[in-house]
Amino acid sequence: MPATPAAIAEPVIQTRQVRKTFAAVGGHDRCVALAGVDLDVTQSEVVVIIGPSGSGKSTLLRTLNGLETVDSGTITVAGRKVTDQRTDLPALRADVGMVFQHFNLFLHKTALENVALPQRIVRGRSRSQAEEIAMSFLKRVGVDDRRDHYPSQLSGGQQQRVAIARALAMHPQVMLFDEATSALDPEMVGGILDLMRELASEGMTMAVVTHEMGFARDVADRVIFMDGGGIVEQGAPEELFDGARNARTRQFLSQIH
Ligand code: ADP
Ligand code: MG
Repeated sequence: MPATPAAIAEPVIQTRQVRKTFAAVGGHDRCVALAGVDLDVTQSEVVVIIGPSGSGKSTLLRTLNGLETVDSGTITVAGRKVTDQRTDLPALRADVGMVFQHFNLFLHKTALENVALPQRIVRGRSRSQAEEIAMSFLKRVGVDDRRDHYPSQLSGGQQQRVAIARALAMHPQVMLFDEATSALDPEMVGGILDLMRELASEGMTMAVVTHEMGFARDVADRVIFMDGGGIVEQGAPEELFDGARNARTRQFLSQIH
């Protein structure tokens, strides 16, 4: 039976009025990281999130795969109700691949083990199956010749490739990138952005926090500007970069260009 239009329109990511506060250091007021965020990301959409430091970008991504709990509001990602306490978080995190600024690889595991282990633990794949899949993804991201290297023996760019392979090997429905190129030497940045661009062109649903405005302009279907824990303005890249209506957006863009 063909899918109904309603089923097709179902967003891969949906947040409603998501609020998150943290205990403020030294004071009794709480710091508001997310001030009621509504976000919808549809199948195969690439959303780039920009905004000043402390505006809540990382917290937003982290709430999407349950790395942070929320104070209130609801989140559904890849058909799983993240804000429901009964949600199977390891399974959610397998469906929602996340790539961090500092790679977050297992330091005492080789590249191959880094990509194979989560598959065995969360997806229940056998060692040989997980390693075969791991090799295919290490090859795909161009580091299969580093399979037996430990993270400390790899460049930043290679470590990030392993981290991307690790996420992809779980066959995620959506990928989250939090400043995936910010910690890399400049000559490593382009290769990682190219990989992300490839994933986008293959139809991966992606939410990308980045300061790479060229990437945002070329690859994003939609650019979201966050400030003070909220979405201030959003639109197609050319709309936002060339015709921002909000003064805060314009000020931010003028600082980074
Ligand atoms: P961004 O990624 O846009 O720089 P973050 O989401 O990291 O912003 O942070 C949003 C706000 O939440 C900031 O004020 C930050 O200090 C605060 N914050 C984030 N994580 C924590 C934490 N674990 N403990 C306390 N405060 C935090
Ligand atoms: Mg951040």
